[in-house]
Amino acid sequence: MIVVMKQGAERRQIDQVIEQIEQLGLRSHVVEGTELTVVAALGEKRDGARQALETLEGVDKVVPILAPYKIASSEIKKEPTVVRVLGLTVGGGHVGVIAGPCSVESREQILEVARIAQKAGATALRGGAFKPRTSPYAFQGLKEKGLQLLAEARAETGLAVVTEVMAPEHVEMVSAYADVLQVGARNMQNYPLLEAVGESRLPVLLKRGPSATMDEFLLAAEYILKTGNSQVVLCERGIRTFEDHTRFTLPLATVPYLKQKTHLPVVVDPSHGTGKASLVAPMARAAVAAGTDGLMVEIHPNPEKALSDGFQALTPAVFKQMMADCRKVAEALGVGLG
Ligand code: PEP
Ligand code: MN
Repeated sequence: MIVVMKQGAERRQIDQVIEQIEQLGLRSHVVEGTELTVVAALGEKRDGARQALETLEGVDKVVPILAPYKIASSEIKKEPTVVRVLGLTVGGGHVGVIAGPCSVESREQILEVARIAQKAGATALRGGAFKPRTSPYAFQGLKEKGLQLLAEARAETGLAVVTEVMAPEHVEMVSAYADVLQVGARNMQNYPLLEAVGESRLPVLLKRGPSATMDEFLLAAEYILKTGNSQVVLCERGIRTFEDHTRFTLPLATVPYLKQKTHLPVVVDPSHGTGKASLVAPMARAAVAAGTDGLMVEIHPNPEKALSDGFQALTPAVFKQMMADCRKVAEALGVGLG
């Protein structure tokens, strides 16, 4: 349920609503909008709860939240959530660009990529130090050494660092170096991890599981939001279908759909979404046209030598062109990009 307060409701009245919600054995979540304050009452349905809240002073109305996810729902917050960290802005009329290699491979590689990304206009650097690989024999990442190299690249370029955390016990270590914690597609429903990244209080980029429905995706985001961390970015990275011409199938309707259902910003990853370097830039342009709040793109100075996902990495020249083209689409729509 959402308790919508009257315009100009006093703090004391809001506190009374919170107290009543808690007395009913429910959990409260306050959303202060620009004009109205709403207090969500979260938990199992309670008989008589609606009436108990509706009669309180300062309350305008009590309405049910129809979606299975609550804090993530646009029913409780109309204004879009914007995530800002260092020079990266995701949402609110700005397409944030996160670029970098699939994996951090060496000092030279990550510094070179960071310079390329920054020069082309990206504002965040991606790069995995802990890599979820399908084969246990494949390169697993440089771990803490990789995190240190990302921090070094940030110190030189000012780019925000976005990197994956794979296990709850690594959250503390990864948070010491990262600006945004990435939860990978394979871990979208790893609930202890979602709670741990929520507690970190760093912004979280949550990737859609390759077989997850939109409700499952938003309920995963809800686990993070429920900890009190409101800085969640959703990332569409492609799903498993019968198609085999691309690595995954990239459904761009996700972008406008999520914009209707949630206030959280949405980023598109056309690299994993297609798995083919030649398809990445066209899908990046299409994602901007569809209203994405951000792009996550894999780039590499030497894709054929990459230790992971080289087949989908853009060369510096192609990335530069992609940025120029995406900027034209963004300008046509009146949004910023970079
Ligand atoms: C990645 O971003 O490098 C990655 C492993 O992505 P995903 O979790 O979407 O497969
Ligand atoms: Mn990758």
